[in-house]
Amino acid sequence: MSKSNNNFLPYSRQEVIEEDIKNVIDVLKSDFLTQGDKVPLLEKLISRKVESKYCVAVNSATSALHLSCLALGLTKSDILWTSPNSFVASANCGLYCGADIDFVDINLSNGLIDIELLEQKLVQAEKRDKLPKILIPVHFAGVSCDMEKIYSLSKEYGFSIIEDASHALGGKFNNDYVGSCKYSSITVFSFHPVKIITTGEGGCATTNDKNLAKKISLLRSHGITKDQKEFELSPKGEWSYEQQLLGFNYRMSDMHAALGISQLKRLDNIVEKRNQKLNLYHELFEKLPLKIHKPSHNILSSVHLGVIKLNNKDPLFHKYIFKSLRKKGIGVQVHYSPIHLNPYFRKKGFREGDFPMAETHALSSLSIPLYTTLSVNDQIRVTNSLKELL
Ligand SMILES: *Cc1c(COP(=O)(O)O)cnc(C)c1O
Repeated sequence: MSKSNNNFLPYSRQEVIEEDIKNVIDVLKSDFLTQGDKVPLLEKLISRKVESKYCVAVNSATSALHLSCLALGLTKSDILWTSPNSFVASANCGLYCGADIDFVDINLSNGLIDIELLEQKLVQAEKRDKLPKILIPVHFAGVSCDMEKIYSLSKEYGFSIIEDASHALGGKFNNDYVGSCKYSSITVFSFHPVKIITTGEGGCATTNDKNLAKKISLLRSHGITKDQKEFELSPKGEWSYEQQLLGFNYRMSDMHAALGISQLKRLDNIVEKRNQKLNLYHELFEKLPLKIHKPSHNILSSVHLGVIKLNNKDPLFHKYIFKSLRKKGIGVQVHYSPIHLNPYFRKKGFREGDFPMAETHALSSLSIPLYTTLSVNDQIRVTNSLKELL
């Protein structure tokens, strides 16, 4: 957002401080703009933070999701399930691999995959021999899904889990950081500017499985290894490298990584600030005809989004509130217009009514401004605007 437009409050925005800028400039003045030491350092620091054995940084969460699916062997004739209440990338990663995709509807109280519906769908899918190879639960708004339950279903029905934690860096489930992969094969984070920390564009995958980490890092760089110990043929000389798989250029640059390293230092503080702002909204909204979700006590939300749900369920009312708030410079957004209702997915046979909870959620909820630099006065302004309209 430009300074001249500071009356407008976006639903989210990055916080870049002088030290972040200095750290990026230092890379620009150094010998390596890419493939230097900053990406491995960011990976090490994220692994240490979330307590995973491995972390592979890439140029976006979308890339991380794609490579995670490939590393788990997803291919044509396989099936991937995810939440319809997410960004399209949660489903597209399966399509990139040629797999079929399907969705599990959400629980209206929190916007997360509904575990009971998941179990029912698994029972039905087993009968038709259509079980998914991969499930991607999405930690919507920074609130972790119940990974313990999803994990036990994965053991019973034999699917792998990739956590889409694009919203949830710094959050916890029970006492473990999201990304520890205690209940999953792989966890994916996004570092897009609207997310918890940013590298500009960027993302990563964490895992405790050495082979998955190796495969993801091979695939992010053309499928090429320079490590002679890993060679399939005998090396022709010191200069040799081998392409062993069909990979991509999904690498993160050192400039991006330097920004991430600098931001990561403030992660706990960022999550705390976001929680404080959400708590203030809770207090300010006490008498308003709307709901704002509070996660259960065993979950620390990273509070990526401040999602309110209007008591009045008339879609026209929702539309009117959205439009009126935008007019007042309150940058509300809907998270998410359900994936399956996009034209591309309708052409695959999905239609209105397939996932009614996600559809109802989209027609009754709004993400209101919530980010670290949002002031108390801004929050009061949001509250007063809502008060007037509701
Ligand atoms: C932002 C987001 C992504 C994609 O992240 P990029 O880093 O922009 O590729 C994927 N899934 C969810 C749930 C997201 O919010």
